[in-house]
Amino acid sequence: MTSSLDAFFQPRSIAVVGASRRPDTIGYQIVDNLLRHGYTGVVYPVNPMASAVHSIPSYPSVSDIPGTVELAVIVVPKELVLDVVDECGKKGVKALVVISAGFKEVGGEGVAREARLAEVARSWGMRVVGPNCMGILNTDPAFSMNATFAPSMPPPGCTSFMSQSGAMGVTILDYAAEYGIGIHHFVSVGNKLDLSGNDLVEYWGQDEGTRVMLMYLENFGNPQRFTTLARTMTRTKPIVVVKSGRTKAGARAAASHTGALAGVDVAIDALLAQCGVLRADSVQELFDIAMALEDQPIPAGNRVAIVTNAGGPGIMIADACESQGLEIVELSLDTQTRLREVFPAEASVRNPVDMIASATSESYRLALEAVLADPNVDAAIAAFVPPLGVRQVDVASSIVGVYRSRKPADKPILAVLMGRHGLPEGRAELRDAGVPAYTFPESAARALSAMVHYRRWLERPVQEPAHFDVDREAAKAILDGARADGRSSLKEHEALRLLEVYGIPVVGHRLTTTLDEARDAARECGYPVVMKAVAPGVVHKTDVGAVRVDIRSQEELDGAFGDLIRKLGEAGVDLEGILVQRYASGGRETVIGMSTDPAFGPILMFGLGGIYVEALKDVAFRLAPVAEVDAMEMLTSIRGARLLEEFRGESSVDRAALVETIQRISQMVLDHPDVAELDINPCLAFPSGVLAVDCRVTIGPHPGATIDSQP
Ligand code: ADP
Ligand code: MG
Repeated sequence: MTSSLDAFFQPRSIAVVGASRRPDTIGYQIVDNLLRHGYTGVVYPVNPMASAVHSIPSYPSVSDIPGTVELAVIVVPKELVLDVVDECGKKGVKALVVISAGFKEVGGEGVAREARLAEVARSWGMRVVGPNCMGILNTDPAFSMNATFAPSMPPPGCTSFMSQSGAMGVTILDYAAEYGIGIHHFVSVGNKLDLSGNDLVEYWGQDEGTRVMLMYLENFGNPQRFTTLARTMTRTKPIVVVKSGRTKAGARAAASHTGALAGVDVAIDALLAQCGVLRADSVQELFDIAMALEDQPIPAGNRVAIVTNAGGPGIMIADACESQGLEIVELSLDTQTRLREVFPAEASVRNPVDMIASATSESYRLALEAVLADPNVDAAIAAFVPPLGVRQVDVASSIVGVYRSRKPADKPILAVLMGRHGLPEGRAELRDAGVPAYTFPESAARALSAMVHYRRWLERPVQEPAHFDVDREAAKAILDGARADGRSSLKEHEALRLLEVYGIPVVGHRLTTTLDEARDAARECGYPVVMKAVAPGVVHKTDVGAVRVDIRSQEELDGAFGDLIRKLGEAGVDLEGILVQRYASGGRETVIGMSTDPAFGPILMFGLGGIYVEALKDVAFRLAPVAEVDAMEMLTSIRGARLLEEFRGESSVDRAALVETIQRISQMVLDHPDVAELDINPCLAFPSGVLAVDCRVTIGPHPGATIDSQP
């Protein structure tokens, strides 16, 4: 592979500009790390005040360096960076790692300085990592390059890591070194002036030494490019992301349901789910997951067997697994009989298999082999509390023995070692052999659950969004008409019409202004009907008593008509008219909506609830465009998914019709970017078909109009 990024990871020579003789400086640390960890190329310290740094000759400037320089690590004060970069360009340096801070992150003149840095680097065709970063690292023994100022060097491995935060980078490397997690490449991208997370995903996707990619993200520079890249890369290599600032959204004030429920965080969750990227909640969890993905096979399904030497841990692990969506499966009778033969009567041969405190390392071997041979089992967790009279390292090597002997190695084995202090014994042995070893049950459960999610992704069909034949022009006319009227939202009947022209079934309805019209409309729709007072300012009609359902006769209609007009008149509401609709009984209430995120574009929502949706918050999000599989996932991923199936004597709803409606909305909002928010609430779902009965649409500026074009 050759790429302009090779100069970062495989340089034959590195200049450290701003190298220092004072051990408490970054300029010293970088030189020290390069030498101490055995960088295989040549290091040139650059310092105008010193003739030697760290016992090697130093040069007053980059141009004084006698040989060629492939990579320059820049640690000089911010005011000097531009001159140094220019000099590097003249010298023929291919790539720069700018550690110095004082750029975009400080705002003001820092922004301008960063723009100039970009210009100068580009003019020489140099690639840049940073500025404001903590460096890069490649543990490949052919380079053994630690060009960071972190105090620790992780062991070599197959996981590549990008961190957007320098401070987190130090923690990450410490953690990796302490837990023996093998790192291949590490990059702290800092302000991402040039090299971005996306570039790294692309590079690592092709890089043989990288099997797992980890990312610590603070924001997405280009979510669209990330989605496209990650969707392909994750088919062969897992990507795990920890995104900081995880808060359960809903903070954005908006009138519409989707707007109120969607937030940045749901957009990110949706984006990651749609491109097969696994999300971790913390750096610890990120490593827990990475450890399992490094060497272990991806399980075929979610059925877990637990093997332990104490009841308590067995139950804790079982609970943790279940709360992560894993199944503590019933072992086959064969397996139970096989276990019964070798274990004492007090042992439990049902899952979790509790071999009790007398279990030896040999017991672990027998039990693991038995459960892994069981066709009901997809994965095994071996747990042990420090056993009396048995050496933990022996138990560990027993587990390693089973892992190594399995052919094919198609089921993962994870270990939980509940040590009393520090890192439990046996852990290193397991880790070295590629068996992830955890201290807490939750860690193992989270890691295994991530693997199961990854399996689902691998098996998910690759699908393009469907295209429906719709009346696009009619939709445009509705939106343009409202805008010409100076309105930022559609009237209710316009919104329903918009759905209709996109092929979404809408309940029979008519907007009326007089009692006679209402009577006619009701006859047309057919009793029973629903009457709704429509007024510009009213968002939730039910809240102001503006909805009357199940009106069965003209007499009832006459009464309700007068009632609605009087009531809303008293409340000072400016009435537009009375919407008469057919009363569609017996459907299950779902909500299908969309809101626009400035960075991520249209976010689609599906949920249960009707008027209770905001209280239940049982909704799922995906970014547009959605393919059929995405839309189906929205239906299955809500907590109340079972309510859409056959339930308490009610037959299941037409899920295909819901899935199609979501896809049609997806097409609509991409065809018409001026649809800023949309909510069908409820979209009634029946055993056959769906019906939209209430729809709200907010329109934004026409995509053609930009702020710049205004006088
Ligand atoms: P809003 O959401 O503004 O309060 P809706 O038009 O959604 O008003 O009506 C409120 C509730 O009334 C709906 O959630 C639904 O339960 C019921 N409803 C409204 N229209 C119909 C209809 N045509 N058929 C059956 N039920 C309806
Ligand atoms: Mg409603």
